[in-house]
Amino acid sequence: MKRIRNFCIIAHIDHGKSTISDRFIQLCGGLSEREMSSQVLDSMDLEKERGITIKAQSVTINYISNKNKEYQLNFIDTPGHVDFSYEVSRSLSACEGALLIVDSVQGVEAQTVSNCHKALDMNLTIIPVLNKIDLPNSNPKKVEKDIEKLVGISVKNSIHCSAKTGKGIKNVLEQIIRDISAPNGNINNDFQALIIDSWFDNYLGVVSLICVKNGILKEKSKIKVMSTNKTYYVEKIGIFTPKRVYKNSLKCGEIGWIICGIRNIIGAPVGDTLASVNSVSEYALPGFKKIKPNIYAGLFTINTNQFDIFRNALEKLSLNDSSLFYEPESSMSLGFGFRCGFLGILHMEIIQARLEREYNIEIISTQPTVVYKIIKTNNDILFLDTPSQFPTANLIKEIQEPIAKCKILLPKKYLGNILSLCSEKRGVQTDVTYYGNQIMLHYSIPMSEIILNFFDQLKSQSSGYASLEYNFESYKTSNMKLLDILINYKKIDSLSLIIHKTQVMIQARIIIEKMKKLIPRHQFDIVIQAIIEKKIVAKSTIKQLRKNVLAKCYGGDVTRKKKLLKKQKLGKKKMKKIGNINIPKEVFLSILKKS
Ligand code: GDP
Ligand code: MG
Repeated sequence: MKRIRNFCIIAHIDHGKSTISDRFIQLCGGLSEREMSSQVLDSMDLEKERGITIKAQSVTINYISNKNKEYQLNFIDTPGHVDFSYEVSRSLSACEGALLIVDSVQGVEAQTVSNCHKALDMNLTIIPVLNKIDLPNSNPKKVEKDIEKLVGISVKNSIHCSAKTGKGIKNVLEQIIRDISAPNGNINNDFQALIIDSWFDNYLGVVSLICVKNGILKEKSKIKVMSTNKTYYVEKIGIFTPKRVYKNSLKCGEIGWIICGIRNIIGAPVGDTLASVNSVSEYALPGFKKIKPNIYAGLFTINTNQFDIFRNALEKLSLNDSSLFYEPESSMSLGFGFRCGFLGILHMEIIQARLEREYNIEIISTQPTVVYKIIKTNNDILFLDTPSQFPTANLIKEIQEPIAKCKILLPKKYLGNILSLCSEKRGVQTDVTYYGNQIMLHYSIPMSEIILNFFDQLKSQSSGYASLEYNFESYKTSNMKLLDILINYKKIDSLSLIIHKTQVMIQARIIIEKMKKLIPRHQFDIVIQAIIEKKIVAKSTIKQLRKNVLAKCYGGDVTRKKKLLKKQKLGKKKMKKIGNINIPKEVFLSILKKS
């Protein structure tokens, strides 16, 4: 145990976490050259495509130090996007130290600051690592000053390195074994471990990543899950190198995986404690705090036969994503589906993409919404996450919307742009702090304005330099309106939206225009209307088709006819039939997106 070091990596997205992790693995021979495909840690296809790390992953490597002693290093690669900061807290609880990786060109960003404070709160030793020193405009000395000012830690022992060239990487490893303490815990006590992550593998069943806090876990022993008191037989255990390697035991201080025949996928919740079956201790290790979703949307299958597969897929996905919430929802227009809660838009997009790719389910998503607090005239309080359930105006005394406390870190020269963006989003400034060339803006901004595309706009208004951190702050009275959409005089519940009074008229017109473009012509006229408080505020008609599509190939070229029919069929695949009208799935989600 003296020779074990558990640490995680904190960094803003793109500052080089994954590349540095890869260097460590390479230096310690965890994989052969051939296996060392670029960025081994980002193994999910989606992660590779989007270039971000979604799931935290652990890797065990053996490092021979300069003094020729062998150390076991367990490190956890953590995601850097604002939507995934809950993964960071999980990783931290298994570690004694953290590498704070900062791009020496970009400098410190808001997310880094907040994650670093989390690590400090948990008493982790932080080693600042300035990466990308190979770049000509790298300025590690200046960035070090920012770290001292913004994060409030000493940079006396910081390391300058380049994950690209490999320069300085060995120094990072040496410093880890010198400065980060070995895990504590007692190998002679009963076995106890914290579940850091659990996921469902189609071949292996439930696999959990655990950190052994006391004792030894042996293959073929019996253990129990503390929260449910259910016992299990330990089938297989091992570590990631990052390949899955079998071991016959995991000792106090080690991080590894376990398969113990947990069939029910809610049987191994993240943050729970595993203990030896005869352990008398009633004490569970401190777990993780439950995270509340910031946004909700209805997810429905296009093909209603897929409902069971859909429910199963959500169950599996939520096993290793404690921030994914779902409950059954039924919609007049879309049928049976689920109301799902997410941390943000990126989180939602990723879940949707995983459902479509990994489970082959074609999904329709409704427009995401925040949770409104409605005080009714009889003083009942309603938390509303489904716009179509908005009470009628005469039952409402007051509507409150969630406000986010935002910290925006940006270089001085973008201040003008960002101030106007924040005021356009109904933001209220609460504080400003200057750190040399950097400015930290504190704002209260309605959550509904943040979730849509604030982050993207912030990035584009600052050439990518501004960064954002936000948390729920409070509910505040607000003048929100319900916008209903009617198609051929029938209300489509899944298209209802809650919008601020100042925006609702403009949005109604934009939405009707967009729908007119997206919905194809039918054999009859389609009237679309936007309604606020029983008044029609926008309206348009999609005129009926004049000709049959086959009429174009009059004369009867068979292959062409077939092609046309096929094209029509393909087009139909992504549509939902509501009554006798085919509505493309984009209509449900893209109407509020600024294109
Ligand atoms: P992550 O998002 O923090 O995991 O960052 P990545 O490791 O994916 O790196 C982001 C980008 O920076 C990639 O294109 C890397 O190739 C590049 N990169 C990482 N480290 C270095 C470095 O030391 N020097 C240079 N020039 N580029 C680097
Ligand atoms: Mg990465």
